[in-house]
Amino acid sequence: MLNFEQLGLSKPLTDHLLTLGYITPTPIQEKAVPLLLSKENDLVALAQTGTGKTAAFGLPLIELCDQLDKNTQALILAPTRELCVQITSDLENYCGVVKRLNITAVYGGASISEQIKKLRKGSQIVVATPGRLIDLLERKAVDLHNIKYFVLDEADEMLKMGFQEAIDTILSSTADEKNVWLFSATMPPEISRIAKKYMSNPVEITVGDKNQGQC
Ligand code: AMP
Repeated sequence: MLNFEQLGLSKPLTDHLLTLGYITPTPIQEKAVPLLLSKENDLVALAQTGTGKTAAFGLPLIELCDQLDKNTQALILAPTRELCVQITSDLENYCGVVKRLNITAVYGGASISEQIKKLRKGSQIVVATPGRLIDLLERKAVDLHNIKYFVLDEADEMLKMGFQEAIDTILSSTADEKNVWLFSATMPPEISRIAKKYMSNPVEITVGDKNQGQC
């Protein structure tokens, strides 16, 4: 059985993960972490909540983001405020004192001026819901031109909630040279459209049953 260091993560990070009780990678982590660390491929991952998908994309992001560069290097898009907060808190835990990254959650229903204040300090990783992110883009409070990693989490849920146009707008505000990592519990046709339009030769990995889903 492989451990996190064998997947390519650094010793300080894997030592820290041990203190969090992360000893053995889950199947999605075992498949995704080495692939994402290599930056060679875009990814479509079919995985439900509870499979360890947050660490599957979060640990490579933490490893790859440069803490000395204050530009936003990674964007994680999630359908709900709750998921946004959860991802942010998980990523902060994974960083511990090993990596000093500013991770900012931006979502609707909370003070936009507070979020703008945090963004102005420089956030290497932004975790956002689509509507609030578009608002921030229109106010020029967030700059996505330098992002190298774009994560769509629970992509099928975002489409079900009507965020298709918002996702298109956000994706077109980013540079072409980036990795796109898409996580979804189901694979409706619209996900294939996003993959075709915005991803280059994505690797597809599946954990558990592949479900056709409805959008
Ligand atoms: P997620 O699917 O990302 O929501 O993760 C589900 C739960 O599993 C969360 O409570 C994580 O903290 C936990 N978890 C994820 N990966 C591991 C791991 N490799 N070892 C132990 N716990 C984990």
